[in-house]
Amino acid sequence: MLKVENVKKAFGPVTVLDGVNLTVNPGEVVSILGSSGSGKSTLIRCINGLEKLNAGKITVDDFDVSKPKELAEARKRSGTVFQLFNLYPHMTALQNITLAPIEVLKRPKAEAEAEGRALLTQVGLGDRADAYPAQLSGGQRQRVGICRALAMKPRYLLLDEVTSALDPEMTSEVLDILAKLAKDGTTMVFVTHEIEFARQISNRIVFLEKGVLLVDLPTEKFFAADGGLAQPRVAQFLSKMR
Ligand code: ADP
Ligand code: MG
Repeated sequence: MLKVENVKKAFGPVTVLDGVNLTVNPGEVVSILGSSGSGKSTLIRCINGLEKLNAGKITVDDFDVSKPKELAEARKRSGTVFQLFNLYPHMTALQNITLAPIEVLKRPKAEAEAEGRALLTQVGLGDRADAYPAQLSGGQRQRVGICRALAMKPRYLLLDEVTSALDPEMTSEVLDILAKLAKDGTTMVFVTHEIEFARQISNRIVFLEKGVLLVDLPTEKFFAADGGLAQPRVAQFLSKMR
């Protein structure tokens, strides 16, 4: 579904992604761990076609994000939620959710709204459809952000530290929703600092270090002494995070 092949990305003289390979198959939940500055967000931005690659290739269902003609198809398949709540402040929760289905997918407004309301209900916000972002808590805004991504019926979700700006209570509100989505078989690529949560919901964990994908292992193996923990950098990272 998602294929990242030997991707290199540099900003000026600084190499940020150095030959990254990653494959995500339907139904998988893959968590990306790594220290701050290791290149996680850049990788997500590359997958979304927001950064020009210096080398390598990224495809979503065989659509190449580097080709302008294929990027729109690739993007339609990826639903992204970012760390900072990037909802439109002048639109209600429901309007934020229905904008792209109506404008991009050309869905009839009434249909898009009915689906948007159903999504809001799923994340416990059925009664906040008409609230503006400023009237919502951080956790509620992120849940709206997840609904907005899901409204496009993406093949998979890309989540970049969606809880890192939230306090613990709001974090668990959002993680509960993600756990539910994972259980329902939603494919997800999950950049996170929530290691215990990643351990619970992921099929696989990859570890990025200074732009190099050091480890890509099934979750159980990642946390095993003879698996991920055998990598000193992984062991060090995990001991610091707990
Ligand atoms: P992470 O998400 O893992 O914290 P990022 O992908 O945000 O890491 O950043 C990786 C590195 O790339 C950092 O050193 C960061 O300063 C650098 N970087 C990211 N975006 C840019 C940019 N637009 N211009 C220059 N450097 C950037
Ligand atoms: Mg980041």
